[in-house]
Amino acid sequence: MIFIDLRDRSAALQIVCDPQKIPLARQLGLQDCIRTQGTVQERPDGQKNAKMITGSIELVVEELTILAKSKVPPFVLEDDVKANEDLRLRYRYLDLRRAPMQRLIMLRHKVISAIRGYLNGNDFIEIETPMLTRSMPEGARDYLVPSRLYPQKFYALAQSPQMYKQLLMVAGFERYYQIARCMRDEDPRHDRQPEHTQIDIEMSFVTEDDVMTMVEGMFAHIFESVLQEKLATPFPRMLYQDALDKYGSDKPDLRFGMEIQDCKELLSAKDFAPFKEADYVRCLVVKDGNALSRKRIETMGEKAKESGLKGVFWAKQEEKFTGSIAKILDGPIAERLSFEKGDALLVCAGDKKILPFLGQLRVEIARELNMIQKGYKFLWVYDFPVFETDEKSGRLIASHHIFTHPKDEDIPLLDSDPLRVRGELYDLVCNGNELASGSIRNHNRALQEKLFSIVGMDSKKYAMLLDALEYGAPPHGGIAPGIDRIVMILAGMKSIRDVIAFPKTTTAQGLMENIPDEVTPEQLKDLNLKFEE
Ligand code: ASP
Repeated sequence: MIFIDLRDRSAALQIVCDPQKIPLARQLGLQDCIRTQGTVQERPDGQKNAKMITGSIELVVEELTILAKSKVPPFVLEDDVKANEDLRLRYRYLDLRRAPMQRLIMLRHKVISAIRGYLNGNDFIEIETPMLTRSMPEGARDYLVPSRLYPQKFYALAQSPQMYKQLLMVAGFERYYQIARCMRDEDPRHDRQPEHTQIDIEMSFVTEDDVMTMVEGMFAHIFESVLQEKLATPFPRMLYQDALDKYGSDKPDLRFGMEIQDCKELLSAKDFAPFKEADYVRCLVVKDGNALSRKRIETMGEKAKESGLKGVFWAKQEEKFTGSIAKILDGPIAERLSFEKGDALLVCAGDKKILPFLGQLRVEIARELNMIQKGYKFLWVYDFPVFETDEKSGRLIASHHIFTHPKDEDIPLLDSDPLRVRGELYDLVCNGNELASGSIRNHNRALQEKLFSIVGMDSKKYAMLLDALEYGAPPHGGIAPGIDRIVMILAGMKSIRDVIAFPKTTTAQGLMENIPDEVTPEQLKDLNLKFEE
């Protein structure tokens, strides 16, 4: 008898061929595409396989046809794949045959269906907006598309439907959504794709609260329909400034504690110059941090110095205090910090740069010491600043995008102290990942023009929006959760590439398509393009 695992999208089934009756069975290779007919029977006792969904039955083959032979695949298509990612991406259509990949792509489909179901049920309408649009940098670099009909002119691929969804509000559509592809020519980074998918949402006559409540309902619906899990809503909310102070990050992971503590006053009382002189003295108390070796703590210090900080001061508490700041500690200080026997205390001093450093350290340590609890911790972070300083150029830029409405009470600061202006700007965070950003927008031309001028953006490029704002534009706001990340988190995966059918590499290449690639001289001529050496 020849036993074959026959696979389709739903599962694999064992089929049994008697080679006397079905001689073709001897010629079958792995990954051949076949059609078969026969009788399903219960497997004999002792041959049942509890690990297979169909493990208690088998098909006894009466007829078999080979529809297509397969070459030997370049890697073994097993659940626990050993091939490197480049090879898997080069032959993505084979990689996608593996059951775990099939499950991920189907999970993505379920998530998108749930989103559509929820929004349709809440009176939203789905409207497509152009992919070919004008170059209107929204934060990232545009992908440009040269025009054949209009020499030396370009379209750009939409970075998001932002402009169009606002115009749809002006057009009176009140509640819009779109499963939108966003294309951004950004510098390659670990988990970034040149194109990603957002569930783009915009609503008229809403407050921040309204948008948040709608999104909470959407996530509760996704969890219920996809994972059969109840999600507690409303999600907690945290001011941006508190997130930075307590977690050193605007996307705190709340699956564990270990908040950053301010110990400036407490530790400056002691005559210890590095703490006395510093504006910021902040610490982490690592529960059971005895597990952190001296060597590990030294590497933290080295990394701190690489980031331009003074280092990491530390102590442990066993029978007595040990470590670089043991001599300035005492019982009452330890008590105030909840620094107990067996814990480690890690302190940084300097300017506010120590906050992101401690935030990063907090996450690394939690991973190393297995402190991260299972589950999903959602959180809204809000009241972000409208502007930030671009590290490279030193210029003011929009921290989300320039269409964000400043908080009314901060509008007077636009001229005098723009960096202190907070926006009606909110992010949805889950398990330390930013899942969505959104804001209430400016529906008043003069205010929008002012924001453009503060960051030195050419408002002429945005004439279509500015003009539209002069025709009775309703107040509006919205948000755009990233579908790739949502699916990645629900699936417990670490990379968005795993939940995208045909992703690019981290360096923006398509290994299967072999792109980017050259085009023919004729194509270039059509487009009036010439390359100079
Ligand atoms: N268009 C924005 C983005 O892509 C999201 C939004 O503000 O709705 O980040």
